[in-house]
Amino acid sequence: MEQHSNSKHTSAIALFSGGLDSILAVKWMQNLGFRVYAAHFSAPYLPPEKAIHYARENGIELIVRDITAEHLQMMQNPVHGFGKHHNPCIDCHGLMFRMAGKLMEELGAGFLISGEVLGQRPMSQHRNALRAVEKLSGYGDLIIRPLSQKLLEDTKPVREVWVDKAALLDISGRSRNRQMAMAKEMGITYPAPGGGCLLTDRSYTLRLRELLDRGEGSPENIRLLRWGRHFRLADGIKLIVGRNQADNEGLQREAYHGIYLKLRDWKGPLGLLTSNDVSGDLLARAASIVLSYSGKATSPAYVKYGIDNICDREILVGKLGEAELKQDMIAYD
Ligand code: SF4
Repeated sequence: MEQHSNSKHTSAIALFSGGLDSILAVKWMQNLGFRVYAAHFSAPYLPPEKAIHYARENGIELIVRDITAEHLQMMQNPVHGFGKHHNPCIDCHGLMFRMAGKLMEELGAGFLISGEVLGQRPMSQHRNALRAVEKLSGYGDLIIRPLSQKLLEDTKPVREVWVDKAALLDISGRSRNRQMAMAKEMGITYPAPGGGCLLTDRSYTLRLRELLDRGEGSPENIRLLRWGRHFRLADGIKLIVGRNQADNEGLQREAYHGIYLKLRDWKGPLGLLTSNDVSGDLLARAASIVLSYSGKATSPAYVKYGIDNICDREILVGKLGEAELKQDMIAYD
């Protein structure tokens, strides 16, 4: 085929979220004979698990890059603002394409692709939004969207016939029927359609805003926002209480240097105080909150605590009422 005349023009970097459209875009281009490097750009609120899982399921090699610093900086003042919650989708896509462009230069690939579908998402995938994303990226003329490209303006890979436009698709709109039929035909495994990242989740973004407004938005603190119920006890001091096993494990995995709390005589939630330097009163309050989230434990009861998850001390506390618990809670979920 004509498009294979220059090896650089036969390889592309794909933005890969792990969702159906991104899997299809990669597979479609691979089937046309292109070498596709699927790339996932992660941050604490853009965890890579889904991308990793569905890349593996579909035999796609995945490159994961952490872009926390760049993403947090962009979020301070996104040119196109935020969506319903704290989701700066247009700027976010622009940034991801920018990072993909750098990867393209690094790997010597020729162009960029994504699974974006014209008209699928209200904020980020209407025609003007796609153009805005191109402009922000700095690589606009090298982007093609295989699923919708027949409906979009030609960019260099199409103009120069690295890619045969006739082999690309003309999908648009919110319905996923066509994509689902293609997935079936191509034997693709994919997740149920989801919203966006954690920045589209109300409860998560309330917690994130609280942190950013206080100037406490370090990557370590933001990573903790995924897990548990969050309580503000003082400036620089939060208590996080796991709601379930996954939360407890998540908090432990983060290995945050703080004071961990757990019930001595009952199974129950894990608590994490985000400072090692707390007064006796605050420690007692934190222990009471942790105890209050164990339905089975009697009150009063002993709560063990210690730095870095070595809980070698204990304190006797009583449970709190619901109104008292809500006083310190940052976002209800
Ligand atoms: S939903 Fe999240 S990851 Fe997706 S574009 Fe919006 S901000 Fe970025």
